[in-house]
Amino acid sequence: MEFYGAVEAGGTKIVAAVGRAGEEPRALERIPTTDPGETLDRIIGFFRARASEGLPIRALGVGCFGPVDLDPASPRWGFITSTPKLKWQGTDVAGTLGRALGVPVGFDTDVNAAALAEYRLGAAIGRDPAVYLTVGTGIGGGAVVDGRILHGASHPEMGHMLMARREDDGFPGFCPFHGSCWEGLASGPAIEARWGRRGEDLPPDHPAWDLEAWYLAQGVLNLLMALSPRAVILGGGISQVPGLIDRVRSTAASLCAAYLDRPQTPEEWSDMIRAPGLKIPGLDGAFLLAEEAAGVSVS
Ligand code: ZN
Repeated sequence: MEFYGAVEAGGTKIVAAVGRAGEEPRALERIPTTDPGETLDRIIGFFRARASEGLPIRALGVGCFGPVDLDPASPRWGFITSTPKLKWQGTDVAGTLGRALGVPVGFDTDVNAAALAEYRLGAAIGRDPAVYLTVGTGIGGGAVVDGRILHGASHPEMGHMLMARREDDGFPGFCPFHGSCWEGLASGPAIEARWGRRGEDLPPDHPAWDLEAWYLAQGVLNLLMALSPRAVILGGGISQVPGLIDRVRSTAASLCAAYLDRPQTPEEWSDMIRAPGLKIPGLDGAFLLAEEAAGVSVS
């Protein structure tokens, strides 16, 4: 049996694994995201050690925090570009790993990889278009359209959609580029900056969650209007707050004002806005990217 390498590279930690998409990994390691040189060395070391133990990889897939260059014609394909994590700006992630390990590399954003995995293996099977969102230290989103990850001039940056602020919310937003974009108003750091406490320290009945649901619902509704998806997967740490996803559904229904034919009923809203079906969708997505890079057709 052949194995693949997967790297889910987030802004605070990286998960590296050997295995196959949709299966329990044969080996997995969590690596803190520090300097690019040190972090990439540890990833390379992990795969070399597994290879010496009898788990060589045929190809590597990387789902990476961004922004990244995904243009196959660009000399900077596989690079991280204008990230606020300054040390990582201009880092050649795909090339460094591919040259060191001597395997083909599939590369995309972490949320695009997660969207592909939820569409192929998780909670969005048969739902095309499908959108995957993660709400945590930032807000990110990816889409699968006609069975493929949606790319464009660069890649979607759903977390930086501009939002209407709720009338009773005086928080200016914290995004260094836009202030009150979606991420600036509704990510984990926004919750902490607005309420002076981390999200995990706020009880489920705290007014923070009503406001959070309002912003998440507004962004999800914008995506329903823009892409007409058949499922929106709401992932990430914040999304796991008890009862939050139900509040997002009911608030989105109320903001939508029955404009869309579908979803209309509470059941249709529950069917549209879904919890993830996979434990680490970005990692399964990275395995799928690896299989694509190896030329293996995946169904
Ligand atoms: Zn922004």
